[in-house]
Amino acid sequence: MATIEFTFLGTGTAVPTLRRNHPGVHLLHQSKNAHSMLFDCGEGAQIQLQKAKINFMSIDNIFISHWHADHFLGMFGLLMSMGFEKREKELLIAGPEADKIGPQLLKFFNFSFKINFVDSGKKGIVFEDEEIMVESMPVKHTIPAVAYRFKEKDKIKLDKKIIKKLKLTGQECRDLKEQSKIKKDKKLIKLKDVSYTIEGKKFVYSGDTIYLKKMENFCKDCILVHECTYFDREDIKHKQHSCLQDVLKFRKSAEKIYLTHIGRKYLSQTELEKKVKKYKNVFVAKDLNKVKF
Ligand SMILES: [Zn+2]
Repeated sequence: MATIEFTFLGTGTAVPTLRRNHPGVHLLHQSKNAHSMLFDCGEGAQIQLQKAKINFMSIDNIFISHWHADHFLGMFGLLMSMGFEKREKELLIAGPEADKIGPQLLKFFNFSFKINFVDSGKKGIVFEDEEIMVESMPVKHTIPAVAYRFKEKDKIKLDKKIIKKLKLTGQECRDLKEQSKIKKDKKLIKLKDVSYTIEGKKFVYSGDTIYLKKMENFCKDCILVHECTYFDREDIKHKQHSCLQDVLKFRKSAEKIYLTHIGRKYLSQTELEKKVKKYKNVFVAKDLNKVKF
């Protein structure tokens, strides 16, 4: 059974505080292969990774939500460290127009490894392999910005009792999975009749955005990490961010919600936790919090 663990490297906003570092979430998916990735990479991310006991060399994908400095400044130091450690593996950096912006940002650096820049500005798949996929969806902020959805692919399992009853061999089982149907003793056996589906786990990272209704569908049955710059609606004014009342609207669609990107005026974690205490599936993230699901 695959496990997913994500770690908040920073839960603050543009100006860090002693308690809240710049934005960044590390996610580790451990299955047949290990997938280690970052969603945003604020300043100080590599120190936070060390505090969280995460091997920074394991990271193969960096998904940037938008190109505001607090969301990507940590990338430079992290890439430098990877170079010092003689990284050879390729690295993917995705973000809105990352194919244009990425090479510009890194033009003064020379790395020992290849970096593949992927534009994630439009809705679609940004990364995919046999086990997982990461999709992007444009959100609304002051500059082009996206949310990301990590999804484990659904697994089709054969029902052992039925397989035994039908006396299917290992090879016949493999054929059935590949071809969706096989013939045995002149009888047609369909995959859907002898199997069940284990739905993959899902995780959504909102990046910076105002409340968007379309996020409801995007984060359906997901663990949602959503920005919550403000806890009071009156503070939001014309800023392109979300407040607590906005994010609470996703309680019906998301499985659990973790609030992050918390404005520096909110000094007390306890006070914020009091505000969400009555909502069973809503949590206020803290730096270096680890969540397994
Ligand atoms: Zn921000």
